[in-house]
Amino acid sequence: MAWYPGATKMELQPESDDQPAIRPTQFILHSVGAPWTSRRIYAFWHESTNLESHFGLGYGGDLAQYIGTQTRADANYRANLRPDGSGAVSIETASNLEHTDPWTDRQVDRLVEVGVWLHQYHGLPLRVCRSWDEPGYGYHRLFPQWSTGGTACPGDARVGQFHDAVFPAIVARASGRPADPPQPGGAPRTLGEYSDAQTALVPGAWTTLSVGGEALISGAKAYTATVFLTVTVPAGSTLQGRFYHQRADGSRWNGPIVERIATVGASFVDFTHQGSVSEGETVRFEACYDPPAPGVRDPGTVATSRARGLYWT
Ligand SMILES: [Zn+2]
Repeated sequence: MAWYPGATKMELQPESDDQPAIRPTQFILHSVGAPWTSRRIYAFWHESTNLESHFGLGYGGDLAQYIGTQTRADANYRANLRPDGSGAVSIETASNLEHTDPWTDRQVDRLVEVGVWLHQYHGLPLRVCRSWDEPGYGYHRLFPQWSTGGTACPGDARVGQFHDAVFPAIVARASGRPADPPQPGGAPRTLGEYSDAQTALVPGAWTTLSVGGEALISGAKAYTATVFLTVTVPAGSTLQGRFYHQRADGSRWNGPIVERIATVGASFVDFTHQGSVSEGETVRFEACYDPPAPGVRDPGTVATSRARGLYWT
């Protein structure tokens, strides 16, 4: 049971005692769809529903905590408690009924404070969640696994604030680094990941590469990206690579296949794609190789992977 010292404790029973423990790895932001104070949100959880959040935040910056952050709360569907014991910490925030209004300055300040505390106390990594179960920070509609049947929560204005104000301020304050400058006018964000984890390539079979996670880009509307690989396969082999977009229901969109010919020793190859991304899709990359002669079955090895690009949220 952990309680943020900056919040008014309004412990919700029986949930606080009855619900199982979690190891908090994510922070998910919500709009409650009502212009309520944190005390009114508590009353709603207490009297009307059992889909409670850990925290509640009113327009004026009044912040309450209803459940300890190491106990499951139920605002995020499959992220509440995962099979590995990890789970998400959630906050509901006062909004208009359609959750179309932006957070107030006081709400932004408190969201940043809670976000910093979760990094310092529970070790949440200072990154936007790249998939529904990877640690980090996010908002309700970022991944469909976080809601039953989809949601617009917390609304377009607040998604913009999350990317441009709330998350950069959490990073700046928690790490002591200056925040990335705000990005007005649709300036892109950067993708820059590197991995030296050795990955085996089996002849004739696609292998999804993990470069800081299998989801290279999440929450984007458009992107341009290049994957650079150092690969060792029999000389003369054909290396193939393609980007694809993974959807929550398990289906996918496949990008075009690009081919490269492997040289003696290590080969240094690159694959580029650009395009639009639909809501809920993540951008991933896979590779395979065809040996130069039938019957060659040696596995290939990807020794290093770099993903570089720009994307627009
Ligand atoms: Zn929500």
